[in-house]
Amino acid sequence: MGRLLVVANRLPFNIARKAKELHFRQSPGGLAVGLSSLPESCERLWLGWPGMTNEKLKGKEEDQIRDRLAAEGCRPVFLSRRQVEGYYQGFCNKTIWPLFHYFPRRTVYEDRFWKTYRQVNEAFCDEVMKIADKGDSIWVHDYQLMLLPKLLRERLPDSKIGFFLHIPWPSSEIFRLLPWREQILDGLLGADLIGFHTYDYVRHFLSSVSRITAMEHTLGNVSVANRVVKVDAFPMGIDYEKYSQAIGDPRVKKEAGKIRKRIGERKIILSVGRLDYSKGIIQRLEAFDLFLSQNPQYRGAVTLIMVAVPTRTGVEDYRELRNSLEQLVGRINGEYGTMGYIPVWYLYRSLPFVELTGLYNVSDVALVTPLRDGMNLVAKEYIAAKADQPGVLVVSEMTGAARELGEALVVNSCSKGAIVDAIKQALEMPPLEQLERNKIMQERLRRYSVSRWSQDFLSALSDIKKTQERMSANRLSPAIAKKLAQDYRKSRKRLLLLDYDGTLVGFKGKPADAGPDTEILALLKKLTAHPNNTVVIVSGRDRTTLEKWLGEIGAALVAEHGAWIRRDDRKWQTPLSRDTAWKESIRPILQLYTDRTPGSTVEEKDFSLVWHYRRADPEFAYVRGQELKAALVNLTENLDVGVFEGNKILEVKSRGANKGRAAEHWLARRGWDFILAAGDDYTDEEMFSALSDEAYSIKVGFSASTARFNVDSVKEIRLLLKRLSGDLNDTP
Ligand code: UDP
Repeated sequence: MGRLLVVANRLPFNIARKAKELHFRQSPGGLAVGLSSLPESCERLWLGWPGMTNEKLKGKEEDQIRDRLAAEGCRPVFLSRRQVEGYYQGFCNKTIWPLFHYFPRRTVYEDRFWKTYRQVNEAFCDEVMKIADKGDSIWVHDYQLMLLPKLLRERLPDSKIGFFLHIPWPSSEIFRLLPWREQILDGLLGADLIGFHTYDYVRHFLSSVSRITAMEHTLGNVSVANRVVKVDAFPMGIDYEKYSQAIGDPRVKKEAGKIRKRIGERKIILSVGRLDYSKGIIQRLEAFDLFLSQNPQYRGAVTLIMVAVPTRTGVEDYRELRNSLEQLVGRINGEYGTMGYIPVWYLYRSLPFVELTGLYNVSDVALVTPLRDGMNLVAKEYIAAKADQPGVLVVSEMTGAARELGEALVVNSCSKGAIVDAIKQALEMPPLEQLERNKIMQERLRRYSVSRWSQDFLSALSDIKKTQERMSANRLSPAIAKKLAQDYRKSRKRLLLLDYDGTLVGFKGKPADAGPDTEILALLKKLTAHPNNTVVIVSGRDRTTLEKWLGEIGAALVAEHGAWIRRDDRKWQTPLSRDTAWKESIRPILQLYTDRTPGSTVEEKDFSLVWHYRRADPEFAYVRGQELKAALVNLTENLDVGVFEGNKILEVKSRGANKGRAAEHWLARRGWDFILAAGDDYTDEEMFSALSDEAYSIKVGFSASTARFNVDSVKEIRLLLKRLSGDLNDTP
């Protein structure tokens, strides 16, 4: 295994100034723990912001930080106060965080935040470039760095790049609100592997990709120009042994004993989490209030310990949240408290491991009810800490963790009633049932620990890289392109069979409906004018359009996939019978599906009817298309027409003509000493199959093909044709 470069917003270190000196303290989050289990042979380097802005550093402190962190395998990315304000406090915390947690009304869309976000992603890219080697794997983390994969890809085209998002990916309906949605998707798709905590997030991401970029995906593989990008779920685990063995630690035992002594016989409900609006803390407390009001028998018999961890304290929204929470705690305690009973114990601070696991241990119920949470590790830690002990987890179905913790009491966190019922059910659940439920979850958490998570992600990254290498084995290399150009120059009688849409024109799979641009027209004219060349444009378009767009360049034209052919005499001829009575029975069906599928259209050509759905909702159109296809196959059973599925189209056309048969008109003439055919979709396969082995056949894109070579895009075909026409120098 090569070197692993981990790039995250923060380093696994906290730096603070105490008595004028810099102090370094390790802050190992889940990621650092996961990485620590990788084999020693895998050298690791971690890049991130050290947590202090440039303005706060004096004299040679930057060097001091650099040296000190280098010894720990870390490399700082220094940021100014202005950068941190725009990028982190602005775009990350005020735009992405609320939007991705389904709080569009809290979301701020500011151009200057976006600009700084881009700049900081570029600054991270520059730092990576200072140390990256060809064989390194680069693992980029989280929503702070979503543009980085693409920036790295541009500068390191062949490197292995993985990305993991630690927060939810929202429904495409939410994501599309973001003014910079295309740029974010484009940035992420620079990676080879994109990981999320749950399949729901994968689903939402893929749906955002297909709706916003119109890129295709199958089974989690997105086709991006010359690469396939894998999108998959990797639920992040915890250091299971650390939490399950915590109670064996005398300090934890002592802590648990201390709490139990103070609370006495009362039942303990625990709530732990950062004081963030996404965590639903107010709603949780309101539910507890309702629980006490509806169940007077529990007043005096149950205590809620609420640990609210300070977070983003400089932000107004968060200050307001703290005020509301403290008022509510005061009100509940005032209402239900007595001299010897405080219903809510409220702590506004972050607890160290020993105190936290002491609390996990002693609590009868953990109430984890965020409104949205990418994963929620507290839920997992609580179950792990309950090894061989009863304890009930109440968890919101809006957390990623709920997907793996189905044996807990899973609730809708927006329903106060559901939380109240779950609290009661938890307090009254027989201990044996608690143990049984926990055992199943514990086994799952033990197996899919944080180490397994990081190993799985990295091995999936290697796998997708191997798949990409297999797919690009037939890539038209510079050496082959050179040989092709040499063969071209040596030859006297050349045949060029060129598909039009997606091969000569078009961008990212979208056809150029405005007609050919001046560059391609000039290029085709030049190639056609050469006395040694016969150029044939082999298209699926109708003959009128082809005639209008390409009629004057002098090339032979094939329209409707071979149903019409225009040779040197410039007269259109067809090999098919003119009887198209079958259209009368098919047209109304296509019209019906067009009316029922907004955005779709019917195109009528002389020998075919086409249902186009590129502009329709992709998922809806897919379902409608499958229904339509089944209906058409049935209807055309006894007719001499077939149903063909293409790029966002369904076409019903005569079986008597295809691009292969059209190519035969020229191939049958002997004496060619150079043949080149280029195409991009399934209709071109028949043309490729009709060629002899020595012919150069080139497929644009990397899906399965009988062509000998593949290229990335229209751009490469144009470069090749320019080279043949003499517009480009022959030395690459
Ligand atoms: N945590 C802690 N002390 C506290 C409260 C929480 O160390 O007082 C830790 C907890 O053990 C967990 C993490 O903070 O590992 C919180 O992760 P989670 O996924 O639950 O929420 P996040 O804060 O990442 O949104």
